[in-house]
Amino acid sequence: MGLLYLGTPLVWEEAKKYADHVRNHGITQFLHIWDRFKDRQGDELLWGDEVEYMVVSFDDKEKNAKLSLRQTEILAKLSAIVDDIGADCPDNISIPKFHPEYGRFMLESTPGSPYTGSIPDLLSVESNMRYRRNLARRHLNPNEIPVTFTSFPRLGVPGQFTEPYFSPSDAVSSHSLFLPEEITNPHARFPTLTANIRRRRGSKVAINLPIYVDEKTPRPFIDPSIPWDRDIYPEDSEAKLGAAKPDHIYLDAMGFGMGCSCLQLTFQACNLGDARRMYDGLIPIGPILLALTAASPIWRGYLADVDCRWNVIAGSVDDRTEEERGLKPLKENKFVIPKSRYDSVDLYISDDWINRPEYNDNPLPYDEIIYDRLRRHGLDDLLSRHISHLFIRDPLVIFSETIDQDDTSSSDHFENIQSTNWQTLRFKPPPPNSPIGWRVEFRSMEVQMTDFENAAFAVFVVLLSRAILAFNLNLYIPISKVDENMRRAQLRDASVSNKFFFRKDIYTNTSSTSSTASSSGGSSPIDGMPKKKEKKMKNCFPPRPQPENGFTHRFPVEEEYEEMTMNEIMNGKGVDFPGLLPLINAYLDTLDIELGDMVKIRRYLDLVRRRSDGTLLTPATWIRNFVKSHPDYKKDSVVSQEINYDLLKAVDEIERGVRKATDLLPVDYEGGNTDRGSIGF
Ligand code: ADP
Ligand code: MG
Ligand code: MG
Ligand code: MG
Ligand code: MG
Ligand code: MG
Repeated sequence: MGLLYLGTPLVWEEAKKYADHVRNHGITQFLHIWDRFKDRQGDELLWGDEVEYMVVSFDDKEKNAKLSLRQTEILAKLSAIVDDIGADCPDNISIPKFHPEYGRFMLESTPGSPYTGSIPDLLSVESNMRYRRNLARRHLNPNEIPVTFTSFPRLGVPGQFTEPYFSPSDAVSSHSLFLPEEITNPHARFPTLTANIRRRRGSKVAINLPIYVDEKTPRPFIDPSIPWDRDIYPEDSEAKLGAAKPDHIYLDAMGFGMGCSCLQLTFQACNLGDARRMYDGLIPIGPILLALTAASPIWRGYLADVDCRWNVIAGSVDDRTEEERGLKPLKENKFVIPKSRYDSVDLYISDDWINRPEYNDNPLPYDEIIYDRLRRHGLDDLLSRHISHLFIRDPLVIFSETIDQDDTSSSDHFENIQSTNWQTLRFKPPPPNSPIGWRVEFRSMEVQMTDFENAAFAVFVVLLSRAILAFNLNLYIPISKVDENMRRAQLRDASVSNKFFFRKDIYTNTSSTSSTASSSGGSSPIDGMPKKKEKKMKNCFPPRPQPENGFTHRFPVEEEYEEMTMNEIMNGKGVDFPGLLPLINAYLDTLDIELGDMVKIRRYLDLVRRRSDGTLLTPATWIRNFVKSHPDYKKDSVVSQEINYDLLKAVDEIERGVRKATDLLPVDYEGGNTDRGSIGF
């Protein structure tokens, strides 16, 4: 989440009067940034992760695992500790940062300063994550632990799922049937966001996840835990009037989505052009890594037939009106908008010649006035469309104290819209007054239960982003196919049961009608490998060679891609498609890495490989199996209080290495506390 301002938030009826003001000044702020930084060159590789936790409070007598609502106290304590930790912090670890998140049971942590492109930094990610986790852990109550679990299984069940208990009847912001007001971070921004989404939309949000149908699941499944006849808020009747669908798990509040935890990575690019290339290169990777990190099969006490959080969050902040959703003709609103403001990206933005216009085949409503303004200022078509597409959204939270800003030194109005477009990738311009460059944030992954796994996926993505730039890889497929992959990625067991659209011919760097390109359409990375190995991961690469005169693309777009299994995407298919892991290995061969370090890197890549070939389970499958084999499970899709308690205990034990889970983790996984000694615990 962005910076939190203290101030007076406007209710929706007031806020909406300032929507154009915020958009106009937001664009002015962006253009100041543009003028100052568009030609900036030579930024080094800096990158960092964000890990989100939920604080679970165990009641061993009642056998209940609940969400602890002590975020405010915990963060105050952590920031006091972090302030005087200085000298105690191990050499290779910067003083961590802890941030608030939407849920009052959540924490987020980031490294105190970003990692560089050095190999020691790459290999410090796991210990950095562990240090942060252990720091949080040490400053919780004895019965509390920070878990990196994507969705809390019993969020919103009848009875007590928070510590302390609050009744959902007091949900004045969300009007939820299931979640109390106190589930939400008390800072004014969050209740306002929640209420303004509901007010703007004209109803509560409504998410329906297909229930996982087991032997004894009643059919049709009409959820007995919904208080169908509650009569406190005007929206209470929505459930029985059709918002809650049979055979589905119904969720009705922002907290169900924004209460999920994820793993995000941000990379600084050498310059604007490379940031655009990296953004595009990672777009098709979003759904692939969502499927591979799938970790959320349980919702509101039921097993679902999906494995991922993505669509839940998309639905949980979907502020589009009926007109915008295409249910009514446009009258009050300007656009029919196909997606929620939390969703997959809609536009490739690189000005690289390999970005064929045909790939941008999604409908793309954009604000034409803003588009024209950007074009007149000198921005190209794609970036102008990108920004003016983000700017079709209204600002949701406006503080009366910060309506008027100095547009040369502030980016708040820009960020107000930018940072409430929660998409699979985020293109981050430099902040106005800082040494930070153009960055790309990768946002699709679910958080993993151990920092070994979180580090493995972080290492995988950073190495892949390097390989994409170093080898000039071409991963483009039509963006509508990326969206189809997003849909498939969330289905139960997607990574082993589904195929995904992926590009076959990924070396288009020398492809040209008159060139002597090989039959695979280009040269493999190995051909052009430098003789001298690099000491660290570079950030700046020579530009892609321009095609020769008379160039045409070799294939029609439809012939450039096909459906592949996860194993094929990761490990290769036939002679032409090498697979992402072999490409990363080829990239590693260009670096000067000590043997011991290489062994560690391989261990991370091996986790990714074994996930993708199915020899290790996704967290979602492991969790589902745990529930299904629990003695208290009645084959009726219900995840009881006791199952949830045992599950979270097991997750904690696995993380600490005191319980083995060899179908989830490599046999030699030793647990998160093994390096306690070396980091001063
Ligand atoms: P947000 O919540 O807006 O996505 P955070 O501040 O929570 O952002 O996390 C940003 C991440 O980017 C952190 O991991 C941080 O270490 C990293 N980071 C900070 N500065 C840079 C930079 N110049 N380039 C790349 N990453 C950076
Ligand atoms: Mg976060
Ligand atoms: Mg963050
Ligand atoms: Mg954040
Ligand atoms: Mg932030
Ligand atoms: Mg982030």
